[in-house]
Amino acid sequence: MEDSKLTPKERMKITPQVMPEQDPQERIHNVNEVPKGFSYELAKMEASRCLQCKTAPCVGGCPVEIDIPGFIQEIYEGNMREAVNIIKKTNILPAVCGRVCPQEEQCQKSCVVGKSLKSVDKAVQIGKLERFVADWEMEQGESDVPEIKPPTGKKVAIVGSGPAGLTVAADVRREGHEVTVFEALHKPGGVLIYGIPEFRLPKKIVMREVENLENMGVEVKYNMVIGKIFTIDELFEEGYDAVFVGTGAGLPMFMRIEGENLNGVYSANEYLTRANLMQAYSFPETDTPIARSRNVAVFGGGNVAMDSARTALRLGAENVYLVYRRSRVEMPARVEEVHHAEEEGVQFMLLQNPIRLIGDEDGWIKQVECIKMELGEPDDSGRRRPVPVEGSEFTIDVDTCIVAIGNSSNPLIPDTTPDIETNRWGNIVADERTLKTSKKGVFAGGDIVLGAATVILAMGQGRLAASAINEYLATGEW
Ligand code: FAD
Ligand code: SF4
Ligand code: SF4
Repeated sequence: MEDSKLTPKERMKITPQVMPEQDPQERIHNVNEVPKGFSYELAKMEASRCLQCKTAPCVGGCPVEIDIPGFIQEIYEGNMREAVNIIKKTNILPAVCGRVCPQEEQCQKSCVVGKSLKSVDKAVQIGKLERFVADWEMEQGESDVPEIKPPTGKKVAIVGSGPAGLTVAADVRREGHEVTVFEALHKPGGVLIYGIPEFRLPKKIVMREVENLENMGVEVKYNMVIGKIFTIDELFEEGYDAVFVGTGAGLPMFMRIEGENLNGVYSANEYLTRANLMQAYSFPETDTPIARSRNVAVFGGGNVAMDSARTALRLGAENVYLVYRRSRVEMPARVEEVHHAEEEGVQFMLLQNPIRLIGDEDGWIKQVECIKMELGEPDDSGRRRPVPVEGSEFTIDVDTCIVAIGNSSNPLIPDTTPDIETNRWGNIVADERTLKTSKKGVFAGGDIVLGAATVILAMGQGRLAASAINEYLATGEW
């Protein structure tokens, strides 16, 4: 398969390579990763599908603008180290993004191959190739520590160690500034560690990326809830010259229906945190248990709902119902996640909505009352509005419910720093290009600004903020 011998026509004829996966019936009994990754041969074959387009529209679809044809060509030629280096110029978390980016909505959506074959499913699988390269690097052991400029004497505090905070930490540290990350939890990574389950994103990958940052000289301080232990103003008093707020959108939303306070009703955040961060799946070897359930209802249709439903199956539930008020087309979850959930036996109850949670005499959830829905006219989001069908109420028996209808921003920092402006949803208002807030020296990015969004969008904002912080510290101009 010589590069020079393959014409674009021949490249277009190569079918997308299939990544091997754990069998659905086997994987619901473990928490190991579902897709097993490309072999070298599969990766090379997939790389040979790329047309090396001069205009490379795929790059514009990536929020951090990775040189996609560049790294794919290096894979094709067998130069893995070069491929890693190209990706890492703009993305410090390729093993993460290669796994969880909504690629079909971003880089792959613009791929010429997919467009010519009239299906995004046939686009070059950029994310899977990115994952292959990042995993290759991990298998080699030590990663290269990027060059750090001489010390500037300036100090930057980063609040929150999610993808936004980690990205800022890397880019600001490279400039020679002293960087401290303050994290409220006892582990780093934000949603990557406490939200997205092990079977989608192994935690050793996140820990490894943080180790790389520590090798660059970034200090991470755990169990530091900023707004309680120090306010933002106190960080400045401690000698920090700039502060980046990347505290995410970790405040769960509830349905505000009767019975939400019953025992056995969880927010998806609590359920996933117990399962992932506190490793409830290995209780009693670990300390934090989770209710053993037989019949679980999950409310919602996004990635968080899919993760909760698939986690419940792995924790031994016999029936997991995913109750979603719209139809499959409107589901915000990634197609791949919906497909995996279905394969594993999650039972989809579409166009149905919970209206009441019913408890037993001891205050434990025992039933959900639902109503059937039909789709009406489009609402503000452009999706057709679900409308209840009168008289269609029914109940299902459950012993656990998980509410996964969304998250909003954590109010702690805005509450303790009133001169930081927020919008009506409680998100911090920041300039689109520089991520400067209304308070001098304070920048913000990721979900705390965007509302619940994606890993790569949080990282994209992190890059912009870091560049603005570096400029601010160099010039002193706000
Ligand atoms: P976060 O990742 O939320 O990190 C914020 C960090 O700040 C946390 O570690 C938190 O503990 C810390 N913090 C908060 N307050 C304080 C404080 N006062 N002091 C100190 N530290 C504080 N996106 C995708 O692209 N693909 C997916 O497949 C996907 N799946 C998801 C699944 C789940 C279950 C969830 C919840 C989200 C998912 N997302 C996914 C969204 C994505 O994870 C987020 O958009 C992204 O993590 C946002 O990054 P962030 O750095 O802004 O915030
Ligand atoms: Fe695509 Fe995400 Fe990788 Fe960018 S970071 S190339 S959007 S998978
Ligand atoms: Fe390759 Fe598709 Fe990008 Fe063209 S658009 S360079 S084919 S990945």
